[in-house]
Amino acid sequence: MRAAIAGVAQTRNLRILRIDNAAQGGSSISDAEAPICAVIGAGPAGLFAADALARAGARVVIYEHKASPARKFLMAGRGGLNITHSESLERFISRYGAAAERLAPFIRAWPPQALRGFCAELGETTFVGSSGRVFPASFKASPLLRAWLKRLSRLGVAIATRHAFTGFAESGALRLIGPEGEFIRKFDALVLALGGASWPRLGSDGAWAARLGAQGVRVTPLAAANSGALIEWTAIFRSDFEGEPIKTASLRHGASVARGDVVVTRGGLEGGPVYALSSQLRVATQKYGDTTLSIDLRPDTTLECLARKLSRRPQKQSHANFLRKAGFSKVEIGLLREARRGGLPRDAEMLAALIKNATLPVIGVAGLERAISTAGGVCFEELDDDLMLKKLPGVFVAGEMLDYDAPTGGYLLQAAFATGLAAGRGAARYLGLSPDQPVACPEHDQTGLSPRHSPNGRAPEASNKYSL
Ligand SMILES: Cc1cc2nc3c(=O)[nH]c(=O)nc-3n(C[C@H](O)[C@H](O)[C@H](O)COP(=O)(O)OP(=O)(O)OC[C@H]3O[C@@H](n4cnc5c(N)ncnc54)[C@H](O)[C@@H]3O)c2cc1C
Repeated sequence: MRAAIAGVAQTRNLRILRIDNAAQGGSSISDAEAPICAVIGAGPAGLFAADALARAGARVVIYEHKASPARKFLMAGRGGLNITHSESLERFISRYGAAAERLAPFIRAWPPQALRGFCAELGETTFVGSSGRVFPASFKASPLLRAWLKRLSRLGVAIATRHAFTGFAESGALRLIGPEGEFIRKFDALVLALGGASWPRLGSDGAWAARLGAQGVRVTPLAAANSGALIEWTAIFRSDFEGEPIKTASLRHGASVARGDVVVTRGGLEGGPVYALSSQLRVATQKYGDTTLSIDLRPDTTLECLARKLSRRPQKQSHANFLRKAGFSKVEIGLLREARRGGLPRDAEMLAALIKNATLPVIGVAGLERAISTAGGVCFEELDDDLMLKKLPGVFVAGEMLDYDAPTGGYLLQAAFATGLAAGRGAARYLGLSPDQPVACPEHDQTGLSPRHSPNGRAPEASNKYSL
């Protein structure tokens, strides 16, 4: 049965179609020959699946339960939008750990250069930051998303916002709830791209896990990944330094070390190196109640060298003045005081040792409500090579719903795009359509992609905190 589409409305730049139950008298488009597909979830994975399906010739409707698409993608843009990474493909793929083998075909079919080429097609050049991470020149997601939504509209893709997927009817048809109430609709194919469960207020709340579970689909339990560390700051430190960055620190937990910029938050610390250590911080705090995180504020200076420098101290100078003149920021000095609540040592060697190893008690890691990503998801064993659910023929899965996890560095978005494309192409094949031609995948030096520097002189890593 083909769906009936009625009630076209114009909302901002988006063409929103209201999908009415044919039984309610909506005007039919059954004269059109092309199969009609639903994509659930207007995040990067869903939008890219819809793009692929529409280019293959299907009619596509995206259902999104929020009032506007891609809220998490836009939020990622507030942190600079680290869209992918420039390291070698083999190394890139290895970042997905246990899921690397399963994701490899999708990433190889649509590698980081292809994502950069897609951004260029949408009018957004990308560049490689000093760490190899790739960013759009604007450091934002909104220009990309605007151009992409226009392209989808030109492809005839309809986006029905405020429409939630609530599960499957006994017939296997889709259950949806929109402003006019609940309705059931059958589509020729379906792509589920509902995201993980982190930052639920942006839309992806993980409620799909129980719904797919009810269909007998195995889902690895969803858990927070890439989380901030929870630290009980003193009230004064929190009020003075919340939101302040600490540049180029080296963090250590046990034998693991991660380096980069961190940000002080109300509840602790966030940023790439914290996220990198978050899973082991979680394990340690779950096991022992708390654990410690050591911070080296001057990882490029030896203890001896630092001690020598700090020994040239005028007798009467205060700690704060002395350290500020030695190049330490207010937040760094504050952090040292947090690590030594009894007072900073006057002895140069002891002070140098504290700067190289400021130890903070961690009481836990942020939960799903503030984590960057979600571990767990639909088990790959439940899917065929086109990402179709073996138990639900015609239903494809893409993006963070899948059971993969990766560190920050652009791997999460690359996987959302690559699996979105794979699911869209798989659905097209299932419908007997020729999957779209791959999006242009030019080599770096042929795209006009800018070289390894920031276009506006900003330090690239400073803009990528993943910590909003
Ligand atoms: C603060 C933050 C910063 C980040 N920064 C980066 C970064 O710089 N680089 C990077 O690689 N990754 C980053 N990420 C991760 C990245 O944004 C996600 O991995 C990516 O958005 C996942 O894409 P997705 O399409 O699978 O899911 P989502 O983007 O979560 O989209 C899923 C969509 O489905 C909709 N939906 C859910 N349930 C229903 C339902 N029942 N009915 C209808 N619609 C529904 C949701 O509203 C949502 O729009 C960041 C994440 C956060 C939280």
